Amino acid sequence: MSDFGKASVRDADVEGKTVLVRADLNVPLADGGVADDTRIRAALPTIELLLERGAGVVLCSHLGRPEDREPELSMRPVGERLGELLGVEVELAPAVVGADVAARAQAIAGGAVLLLENTRYEPGEKANDPELAHDLASLADLFVNDAFGAAHRAHASTEGVAHHLPAYAGLLLERELDELRVVLEDPARPLVVVLGGAKVTDKIGAIERFLGLADEILIGGAMCFSFFRAQGRSTGDSLVEEEGVELAREALERARGSRCELVLPSDLVLGESFSAEAEPQSLDGVDVPDGMMGLDIGPRSAAEYARRIGAAGTVFWNGPMGAFELEPFAAGTRAVAEAVAATAATTVVGGGDSGAALVQFGLADRVGWLSTGGGASLELIEGRELPGVEALLDAERGRAG
Ligand code: ADP
Ligand code: MG
Repeated sequence: MSDFGKASVRDADVEGKTVLVRADLNVPLADGGVADDTRIRAALPTIELLLERGAGVVLCSHLGRPEDREPELSMRPVGERLGELLGVEVELAPAVVGADVAARAQAIAGGAVLLLENTRYEPGEKANDPELAHDLASLADLFVNDAFGAAHRAHASTEGVAHHLPAYAGLLLERELDELRVVLEDPARPLVVVLGGAKVTDKIGAIERFLGLADEILIGGAMCFSFFRAQGRSTGDSLVEEEGVELAREALERARGSRCELVLPSDLVLGESFSAEAEPQSLDGVDVPDGMMGLDIGPRSAAEYARRIGAAGTVFWNGPMGAFELEPFAAGTRAVAEAVAATAATTVVGGGDSGAALVQFGLADRVGWLSTGGGASLELIEGRELPGVEALLDAERGRAG
């Protein structure tokens, strides 16, 4: 159960009302179209619920990181894809706020969708400008935040606006929090955490939290070279995050005194460069010679990680095991992805590049839950409050009190 109580969109009385929905429609684009519509699909249940209940929906999201009103980052392709998926015409507003947008929002009928332009076209979005929050709020009667992937940012459309309207949590936001809560508060044992990706500094907060919570942490990706460096091993030309070495040393130290097992790879796949043309070479061991880079965990480590995932009660996975975008170095990540898809355990995957890997391998719908928010889920794991969520809880406390 979520914490939202009456602040869940399920309990909102929306018939005949105009509802401002903040979703996370920040999708990858290619050739002027949507390259992966996972996040658009994930936003559908809340939008459909509101339309079925007779609300007019004013929808907004950020898209990429526009410096200015870059036309390449217009919401147009997102609106087109959303319209196809919903089977409803989606009207694209010419801007985020302003007189023209306000007139269109005013005119919107129950069952119709008006999509605002990229919220980051407005400099006030990231600054959480109260004026922008106020202008957004003036477009609607109610606010629903469904943008889990942006909930760790206090922006005008995620946090600020929630203080100006009756505010509710969307279905996706609730589900994301519920799935992570199971991992953090009530996991079936053993809880096996698989962490990979590029940088230790990105994941150290999660490592620390899980050292006190999980039964096993399995490390892969370029991140493991900070650990190997901390152990005094040679890392050759592997990607080593220098700031991560001391953090890795501390994590190894903490692991020795904890009941959680911190597991590093025992073999690697090497290449001469980060390239799909590089010849993969297996290394039985982890001391990387000069002139070579470790680009994947080796087959013995992959099998060991897969075995542990298969024996788990709960699995949380964040971060690829190697340079999975390059076919010669994808096997370790693929083995983990297949094990996560096959295990009987409860499985939660933290989005980001592990999500991209699941999509690449065609396994995205075979895991228990694939989060739409890589950064937000990590912050939640670290025990940090998400401003987008806190604003809703404040609104709920305000209504209750
Ligand atoms: P996530 O998005 O899941 O948090 P990151 O963004 O931290 O993951 O890391 C993903 C990137 O790390 C991928 O682009 C992948 O190619 C790269 N990577 C993983 N392992 C290695 C490695 N051994 N050497 C170089 N790059 C790696
Ligand atoms: Mg990433």
